[in-house]
Amino acid sequence: MNTIDQLDGIELTTEKEDLVCYSYDSSIAAPEIPRAVAWPRSTEQVVRLVKYASAHNISLIPRGAGTGMAGSSVPVATECIVVSFEKMRKMIEVDTKNMTVVVEPGILNATLQRELRVLGFFYPPDPASLNISTIGGNVATNAGGPRAVKYGVTRDYVMEIEAVTADGSVINAGGRTHKRAVGYDLRNLLVGSEGTLALSTRIRLRILPLPEDVITLLVIFKDLEAAGTAVTKILSSNVIPRTMELMDRLSIEAVENYKSTGLPHDAEALLLIELDGHSAAIQKEAESVVDMCSALGGEAIVAEDENARELLWEARRSISPALYHIKPSKINEDIVVPRDKIPAVLRDIRKLSEETGTRIISFGHAGDGNLHVNIMTDKNNPEEYRQGLSIVKKLFEITLGYRGSISGEHGIGITKAPYLDMEIKSREMELMRGIKKVFDPSGMLNPGKIFC
Ligand SMILES: Cc1cc2nc3c(=O)[nH]c(=O)nc-3n(C[C@H](O)[C@H](O)[C@H](O)COP(=O)(O)OP(=O)(O)OC[C@H]3O[C@@H](n4cnc5c(N)ncnc54)[C@H](O)[C@@H]3O)c2cc1C
Repeated sequence: MNTIDQLDGIELTTEKEDLVCYSYDSSIAAPEIPRAVAWPRSTEQVVRLVKYASAHNISLIPRGAGTGMAGSSVPVATECIVVSFEKMRKMIEVDTKNMTVVVEPGILNATLQRELRVLGFFYPPDPASLNISTIGGNVATNAGGPRAVKYGVTRDYVMEIEAVTADGSVINAGGRTHKRAVGYDLRNLLVGSEGTLALSTRIRLRILPLPEDVITLLVIFKDLEAAGTAVTKILSSNVIPRTMELMDRLSIEAVENYKSTGLPHDAEALLLIELDGHSAAIQKEAESVVDMCSALGGEAIVAEDENARELLWEARRSISPALYHIKPSKINEDIVVPRDKIPAVLRDIRKLSEETGTRIISFGHAGDGNLHVNIMTDKNNPEEYRQGLSIVKKLFEITLGYRGSISGEHGIGITKAPYLDMEIKSREMELMRGIKKVFDPSGMLNPGKIFC
C-alpha cells in the first residue's frame, strides 16, 4: 500500500503471513488475501480507517476473533483491509446501580464473564466459543449459547452501540435506559448485521446478578427421538431450565475419541440440563425434570460439584473441535425449528444421512430448537464435497418445511448467502438491501456477506 502514511499511528501489517492468518474464520469459506490488516486502538482510529478506505475505494472487513461459522469476516476480494478489534478490548465501565457494563468490542466473552463473576454479576449469553470469541463478534452475529433457553441471546442484552458508519460518522444507537420507544431501533438493526452496516467501537450491555445456585444434570437416553421429546415435554411444563443441550451418539463418540471426558459410550443421546435460581426451588425443579426424563427412558446423573460440572461443559464445548479432527472441512449448519418439531427434524436428518450414505452429526441448543447439523465431508474429495453441499439444500428444505430458519445464531455470511432466498421473500429482501444502501451506499463495509 503506497499511501499507508495516511494511517500514521495505526498498527497495521502487509506481511503475507499475517494477511493469510487474518483471511480465515472457522467456516469453509474460501478466502481472498486482504491488502492489509489493521489493529485500531480507539474510535478515532476506526474513523480514520473508514475515511481512508472510502477515499481509496477499498473495503473494510471488521473482525473479532475469526471464530465465525459462516465466513462473515472472510475477505471476498483483495482490495480490502481487515479491521481486527483484538486490541480494543477494555472493560470501560461497570455500573452496578443500573446493572450495565460498557466494553470495547474486542473483549473476549469469557473475560467479561470472569470479571463480572468476581463482582457477583453475570452476562448470560455464553456461546460455546466464549473462551475465544469477542463481544463485538457476538453482537454482529447476535450470538446465542446454551443459556439462551432461559435468558435469551445477545440481542436481549445490548443496550447501546457506538459505531462508525461508512461515511466516517460516529453514531450512538440505543442508550443507557432499560426501556426506550424513540424512533426506529437502530441498535437492533446493528445487532446481527454481520459488520455490513457499521463498525462497533463501544457496547453497553445489560447484566444480571449471579444466580444463587446451579444444578447440572446429564441425562442419558437410549433413543435420540426420546431425548427430543424430553426437551419439548420439559419446556411445556412449568420448569424453565437455563440450558438444554443435546449430543447425539456420533458427537459423543467424537468427543470421547478426541479428549476422553468419561461420557457414556452406550448412549444414543445425551441432554445436558442446567437449572439456576434459589436452591430450594431448583431442587424441586430438578426432581421434576428427572421424573419427566425417566418416563421417556432417560437416566439422569447429577454433577456433584463444580469440577464435575466443568467437565461436562468441557465435553460439550469440545464437540466442534472434535468434529474438525475427523473432517477438517465438515459443513456445519445451525438450523432452528419450532421446539416441538425437534423429534421430527432429528428423524428426518437421520433419514437424510441414511439415504445419502453421509455421516451427519447433530448436537446443540435443543432447548431453543437450534441444532448444529454437521455434514461430514472432505474438501479434498470433490465428489464427497459436492454431495455434502447438495445435502445442505435438502437440510434447509426440511427445516423450512417445519417453518424453521436456516440460521439460529451463526448468521448468513458467505456460506449461507446462496440459500437466503429460500427463506426471505423478495419484498423483504428488497427492504434489507435498501437498509444496506442507506447505511453503506458504496458497499464498502464487509462486501459479499448476507446477499449474493
Ligand atoms: C468451537 C466454536 C463454538 C461456537 N459456538 C457458538 C455458539 O454456541 N453460539 C453462537 O452463536 N456461535 C457459536 N460459534 C460461532 C462464533 O463463535 C460466533 O459467531 C461469534 O459470535 C463470532 O465472534 P468472533 O469474535 O470470532 O467474530 P468474527 O468471526 O471475527 O466475526 C463475526 C462477524 O462479526 C463482525 N464483527 C466483528 N467485530 C465487529 C465490530 N467491532 N463491528 C462490526 N462488526 C464486527 C464480522 O465482520 C463478522 O461479520 C462457535 C464457533 C466455534 C469455533
